[in-house]
Amino acid sequence: MSDRIGRFPGIVAGFGRIGVAQRGGIGYGLGRRPMHEASIMESVLETAGAEAAKAGAQRILRIRLRVGILSGVVPDALEFAFEGLKEGTPAAGATLEIEQEPAVFRCLECGARPELFEMSFACPACGGALIVDHGGGQLELSQLELN
Ligand SMILES: [Zn+2]
Repeated sequence: MSDRIGRFPGIVAGFGRIGVAQRGGIGYGLGRRPMHEASIMESVLETAGAEAAKAGAQRILRIRLRVGILSGVVPDALEFAFEGLKEGTPAAGATLEIEQEPAVFRCLECGARPELFEMSFACPACGGALIVDHGGGQLELSQLELN
């Protein structure tokens, strides 16, 4: 019985690299729709199930997601949705791992480009105003472990 590990660079649930600059840089991630994470998790489970079937696997052992800190997705809510939705799917016995993707910010004062794992408006180097440079907006199914 060998484990197969697949890597899927594809984006789940239509998330792309959503630049915070498009949203004015402030308050992005607020005002989420209710059940946002549940519908994302449904897509994740569907995609994972389809990949497992394609690989001829019986079960999904592990699902790894990469969640950008600016994606507006709450990891705890994803885990909660996973627990509620996995029954009856090939992922019923699977472990969910969530890896956070940082965003790269840029300081308007000193030009520093700190990579941070949480939203911040103050430069860690000089205290100046930060804007988002890139990254942090993705939600990606990064790895599946199948059996
Ligand atoms: Zn600075």
